[in-house]
Amino acid sequence: MAVGRYAPSPTGDLHVGNLRTALLAWLFAHHDGDALLLRMDDLDPATSSLEHECRQLDDLAALGVTFDGPILRQSERTGAYGDAIGQLEDLDLTYPCFCSRREIREAASAPHVHLPDGAYPGTCAALSTAERAHKAESRPAALRVRAKGIEVSFTDRVYGPHEIVVDDFVVRRNDGVAAYNLASVVDDATQGVEEVVRGADLLDGTPRQIWLRDTLGLPPVEHAHVPLMVNAAGHRLAKRDGAVTRTELLDLGWTDAILVERLLLSVGITASTLTDATATFEPAALPTEPTVWSAEDR
Ligand code: GLU
Repeated sequence: MAVGRYAPSPTGDLHVGNLRTALLAWLFAHHDGDALLLRMDDLDPATSSLEHECRQLDDLAALGVTFDGPILRQSERTGAYGDAIGQLEDLDLTYPCFCSRREIREAASAPHVHLPDGAYPGTCAALSTAERAHKAESRPAALRVRAKGIEVSFTDRVYGPHEIVVDDFVVRRNDGVAAYNLASVVDDATQGVEEVVRGADLLDGTPRQIWLRDTLGLPPVEHAHVPLMVNAAGHRLAKRDGAVTRTELLDLGWTDAILVERLLLSVGITASTLTDATATFEPAALPTEPTVWSAEDR
């Protein structure tokens, strides 16, 4: 028994990869027998909108992805995120970071620095009070955790065992908005989520969230990352890849039933509805390789 969740970002229409993740999140939740909750990752006011949220909800409902309980919107959770950041500050596990993206990239690629992609090289970790005050004059600071290079291991239900060093990641962006990792773990705890199903692009960031949960004293969750849908070149799906959203596919003559069947088949599940698929759904049988999407294959 597990409470699951699906957490789209309402920044545009869901593409087939997002839709397939939603179908799988529903299957995981119903296979293990409890509920699927919905969270809207609308932290970023510049890119998120209610209009996108409505369109996403329509698409999900049309494919049979039902949710239990009210929607949790990250845009309404600033207070909870502030409390969690306060807890990290009280533990003396944060420091301000003034680095730009370019500075981080350059520091990470310097000779003799071997860091996983996207890991923070620790440039601002040991700044003196005077240096911080000086830097603060020209740029607002993000807030990072001091994770002390700890290694976190976990077993993903689809991808198996993983062990990754946790870097000093951002918990509050330099525009004052809580960062995704922090918001996500705080929300999972608030919603009572026990199992997180999401795209495999977030697999490598999961140890950060595990570290945060432990540090904040929040309950652990199970993880199941599911394969991504990519274009013929192996990259993330984008507009130029042709029909990649439900609306675009319906315009080409697809139906919702065909879309569900086709998305399930792309991960080896032969069923024409989600409900039918629950009978045979086997998490361990899911593939781990990305699926190359082509609307032509209908
Ligand atoms: N909002 C994220 C996305 O759409 C997913 C976050 C999560 O599931 O933890 O990729």
